Amino acid sequence: MNSKEYVQSVYNQVEKRNPNETEFLDAVKEVLTSLEPVFDNHPEYIEAGLLERVTEPERVVSFRVPWVDDQGKVQVNRGFRVQFNSAIGPYKGGLRFHPSVNQSIIKFLGFEQTFKNSLTGLPIGGGKGGSDFDPKGKSDNEVMRFCQAFMSELQKYIGSDLDIPAGDIGVGAREIGYMFGYYNKIKNVREQGVLTGKGLTYGGSLGRTQATGYGLVYFTNEMLQDAGKSFRHQRVVVSGSGNVAIYAIEKVQELGGTVVACSDSDGYIVDDNGIQLDLIKEIKLVRRGRIKEYLEKVPTAKYVEGFTGIWSVKCDIALPCATQGELDVEAAKVLVKNGTYAVAEGANMPSSLEAIKVFIDNDILFGPGKAANAGGVACSALEMSQNSMRYSWTFEEVDEKLKRIMADIYTNSKEAAVEYGYDNNLVVGSNIAGFLKVAESMMAHGIV
Ligand code: NAP
Repeated sequence: MNSKEYVQSVYNQVEKRNPNETEFLDAVKEVLTSLEPVFDNHPEYIEAGLLERVTEPERVVSFRVPWVDDQGKVQVNRGFRVQFNSAIGPYKGGLRFHPSVNQSIIKFLGFEQTFKNSLTGLPIGGGKGGSDFDPKGKSDNEVMRFCQAFMSELQKYIGSDLDIPAGDIGVGAREIGYMFGYYNKIKNVREQGVLTGKGLTYGGSLGRTQATGYGLVYFTNEMLQDAGKSFRHQRVVVSGSGNVAIYAIEKVQELGGTVVACSDSDGYIVDDNGIQLDLIKEIKLVRRGRIKEYLEKVPTAKYVEGFTGIWSVKCDIALPCATQGELDVEAAKVLVKNGTYAVAEGANMPSSLEAIKVFIDNDILFGPGKAANAGGVACSALEMSQNSMRYSWTFEEVDEKLKRIMADIYTNSKEAAVEYGYDNNLVVGSNIAGFLKVAESMMAHGIV
């Protein structure tokens, strides 16, 4: 069987075994397509059934999360933890609380996470989890009761040498705090390293909050510099206004770019004078409000209902930082038509496969999320190191390490692309670079 046939046969098997899991199947297809040339060089991987093993999670846990709301009514949500691959280290990946969460989404995220974590160069395997619980509109007490109910089950499967969850959409410092407190209470331990994204007073790392957004911009900056460009005086659109988006905006502004638009799930704002980040932080981080409230303070800005239209705002560089599937093929064509020359993904799989093809076909500089947004998990691994050492690095030390890690991810992805004949295609390059380390480790461990 040649490489192409092997990859296709594995994909067919995955499709048959996971019907209706569209997000997971899309993620598998994207990675597998890139890996074809690897098997020409490594026929022993075919022999060892490596792809069959890499596409099957080591463990999937699904559980009931019953809790009581402020009205005394019993609510039931569904919780998940997917422990995808531990070949290079303990499972590591965030928890997402959002009504859209289902097994397919958690599996796609866990699968992607495996290669992303490998790309960081740090010893962490891939996992992901979450719940269809929606923290929006819930009181603090309700969020706490939910987090405790969720952790009362999740605690059976995690641990600082086994599986270390972190935040993701809907899981920030508040939720991590509640889950950390409850884990340590019911286990009767003080296990500092069991979660990352912790508060600074109890084992968190300086720089973790900023890491994904800053890391995205460091990565994009490497990509721009390689093409003789920079952020200076460029118009930038950043979708979302959550953790990733806010710190991406902050770093772009520091590097001299002008962010002219950002969004939330209701709509987007355009401010041609440059988004006032302090105001966005006030609205989204302090008040947990809606992005349209920006207009109350800046009436010259524009608000448009619906989040997908943000890609029609003319820009040089686009940074999708909201969620998966937010940039479709039509949006990609509009970006290309408007002269956008660089796109880098802060979110996980925000661009559809067809949209990515449009970017590649039009020679747009494209940084796939797996590589471009790896700064968050890299910094989480740095938090684990500090917890193990019982020591804290300064913000500058962490930021310096983050910068180096992002530059290495760019270089390794680019070199892998070139080595396998795909030139500047960082999608192929990052998939191959991430996969090879996992593959080598799995080969070393035998059939386990
Ligand atoms: P977050 O703080 O919860 O913010 C998410 C942002 O996206 C919010 O502005 C939210 O708007 C918007 N959003 C959520 N669902 C949406 C939808 N269906 N359509 C349009 N907008 C939507 O989450 P985050 O941590 O910034 O994560 C954003 C993305 O980055 C996710 O794909 C996540 O997996 C990825 N990521 C995060 C990290 C990290 O360290 N946090 C690391 C790597 C990758 P509302 O305010 O209306 O909800």
